[in-house]
Amino acid sequence: MPIKNRLAELLPEIAAWRQDIHTHPELGFDTTRTAALVAEKLRAFGCDEVVTGIGQSGVVGVIRGRSDTAGRVIGLRGDMDALPILEATGAAYASQTEGVMHACGHDGHTAMLLGAARYLSETRNFDGTVVVMFQPAEEIGKGAKAMCDEGMMDRWGVQEVYGMHNMPGLPVGEFAIRPGPLLAATDEFFIEVTGHGGHAAHPEETVDPTVVASHIVLALQSIISRNADPIAQGVLSVTAMETSSHAYNVIPQSVRLRGTVRTHSADLQDLIERRLSELAEATAQGFGGAAKVEYLRHVPITINATEPAAFAAEIATSVSGGCGEAPLIMGGEDFAFMLQERPGAFIFVGNGASAALHHPEYNFDDEAIPAGCSWFAELVERRMPAA
Ligand SMILES: [Zn+2]
Ligand SMILES: [Zn+2]
Repeated sequence: MPIKNRLAELLPEIAAWRQDIHTHPELGFDTTRTAALVAEKLRAFGCDEVVTGIGQSGVVGVIRGRSDTAGRVIGLRGDMDALPILEATGAAYASQTEGVMHACGHDGHTAMLLGAARYLSETRNFDGTVVVMFQPAEEIGKGAKAMCDEGMMDRWGVQEVYGMHNMPGLPVGEFAIRPGPLLAATDEFFIEVTGHGGHAAHPEETVDPTVVASHIVLALQSIISRNADPIAQGVLSVTAMETSSHAYNVIPQSVRLRGTVRTHSADLQDLIERRLSELAEATAQGFGGAAKVEYLRHVPITINATEPAAFAAEIATSVSGGCGEAPLIMGGEDFAFMLQERPGAFIFVGNGASAALHHPEYNFDDEAIPAGCSWFAELVERRMPAA
């Protein structure tokens, strides 16, 4: 079945919601306006239940099918938050909040899930229950977890979860997915290197932590190249280096390093975390200094369950020109927390030749709306066929 006619018909309206959300972007958990708009629409569509304030500013809508003989419940997720970026799209509906913009297309994701919710509320052509979950704070990796931590999955008996993200470079209307690991675990680390500061003219009386930290930065690069299985993919980047001195003639007392680790396998993640501490501590010790490592695991690996991913691909093929194999991506996605709680799949929908995600000129392509909405709706109707 191609794009659902009803959804094609609703395109101008859904695009208007998307552009309105785009004009009023909000950050992190502060998605008050967007959440209110979502809740108001869900109520207007006639959702059976609309609950706000889940995970601070998340919104949940419940749509019951015409029948419910098998007790099936599917969760569909959308994300509502924007990014701290100064918009440069030149769009007529550009952000009216200086320095904040929808540069990841979450305006489009929210609008598409709203479109699907409207269609499903109107037609109810399925046997079971749909739970639409609109989360805040995806960009800071906290919104999905906050909603799950409040017991959302159990409260509505969600059995499987599906989510979607747009992908620049993939033709509009096409999809891409892969089973198993899809997006990376996103970790952050801090290394506090302590030496013995002093006069820059008398290094012999000091333990210079800038020299120690520099050796640590280089040593860390050997983890991926020398310790990790070459077949496994991983990234380790040191992204910040700050010394306790701001003078040209003072050797600092300490240096703070900060960076990120991205992996697609738990084994590699464990290995990197372990080697990072070993190398930092032993290197510092070798120079007479000390290193203290803090390692934070933010967002887990996004792992698509095999059968739901195959089903998601089948639906994508039926509503679009095609569904290709998505590449492994080093970015992270906090839908991973929902996939840790329930089996399901995350799919990409094409955004055409747009600027990259998180770029000031990025914009969601409204032409992707019919395919995206249809994928959600078709998935529900085929996964829980009307009795
Ligand atoms: Zn993003
Ligand atoms: Zn995103």
